[in-house]
Amino acid sequence: MTSAKQWPALTLAAGPVEVSPRVLREQSRPILYHYDPAFIELFGQVCHLVQRAFRTKYDVVLMQGEAILALEAAAASLFEPGDKVLNLVSGIFGKGYAHFITKYGAEPVELAVPYNEAIDPGQVEAALEAQPDIKYLSVVHSETPSATVNPIEAIGRIAKAHGVLTIVDTVSGLGSELLSPEGWNMDVAIAGPQKCLGGPPGLSLVTVSPAAWEAMERHRPPLRGSFLSLLDWRDSWLTKKTFPYTPSVSTVYGLEAALLAMLEEGVERYVERHQSIARACRRGVEALGLKLWAAREAIAGAAVTGVAMPDGVNDKVLRGHMRERYGVMISGGYGELAGQLFRLGHMGQAAHPAYLAAQLAILERSLADLGVAVELGAGVGAAMRALDA
Ligand SMILES: *Cc1c(COP(=O)(O)O)cnc(C)c1O
Repeated sequence: MTSAKQWPALTLAAGPVEVSPRVLREQSRPILYHYDPAFIELFGQVCHLVQRAFRTKYDVVLMQGEAILALEAAAASLFEPGDKVLNLVSGIFGKGYAHFITKYGAEPVELAVPYNEAIDPGQVEAALEAQPDIKYLSVVHSETPSATVNPIEAIGRIAKAHGVLTIVDTVSGLGSELLSPEGWNMDVAIAGPQKCLGGPPGLSLVTVSPAAWEAMERHRPPLRGSFLSLLDWRDSWLTKKTFPYTPSVSTVYGLEAALLAMLEEGVERYVERHQSIARACRRGVEALGLKLWAAREAIAGAAVTGVAMPDGVNDKVLRGHMRERYGVMISGGYGELAGQLFRLGHMGQAAHPAYLAAQLAILERSLADLGVAVELGAGVGAAMRALDA
């Protein structure tokens, strides 16, 4: 069967991202029965690899659905009517979490900043001091739609000092930031394979602290017998090596391949590669006379680079032109940020000078095609000069 649309030459979007040939190859292996001893061994190995990627000894649960599943599962497993949840909002995903908080009967207390800014830990401290009955805190680590990061280490420290449990969306943080669930008091941390890990979409990677497990057990009644239940995974996989339901076998193969590639490179080096390519990307963007979306260099994320829409250029026209004329797929603004910025992706294998050079070259040419005064090569040149030696 052929598709009417030409497929892109390069997918440099905000996730799902292109995966390596190794991931694709592993995903084509025969599908094992999930109680085949080989699959049990493989699933256990993948959970162990996830622990190493997160740099944690906390329990790991692989929920069998896109990361939104685990974000909702954390809410459903923890929140009860009457609970107050401090919801930190620096972008679309932070804002959206209030929906799960209210859906499970809890009360969101919102602390919001403009969507090109990051949460100020001082304000978190003040909010927890002002309302000592706050029980939970939810925060997005890497706000992919805003291309910014929040200081979750400082936030976690403050939460812990107030006896508040944290739910951290680090879906695009894993792989682009060095994590420390124990050190940073991340009680439930959620990542996805389809962002900086360069894996397939379709799984939630969750780490759970002992305190979070206890809170789930204290929930009245504890959430069990549900696709959203983290306790079901603990009582089956973590204690008995059985499954509450059939895992997405091929996707687990793909995740294993992506994790092995990350760990062979080394978690520190893998993260540093994302950080260094993002830095170079920002220098390239600035050299083109464009404005970075993030208010400050220190809060610019390493998963994607957000660029404010230049005057006179329409977001859909620019992205459409890059995709149709040059076969390069990038991402736009999302939700209430639609039309205000575009995002250059550098996750997984795209966190590489070759992808960065191609992306900036096509961006420059596309802007020139659309009548923007740019000097061809200026962005690529600046980015290549900015690359770490
Ligand atoms: C990608 C992502 C998710 C997962 O959401 P989808 O809309 O299903 O892709 C959640 N949080 C953040 C910060 C993400 O980047």
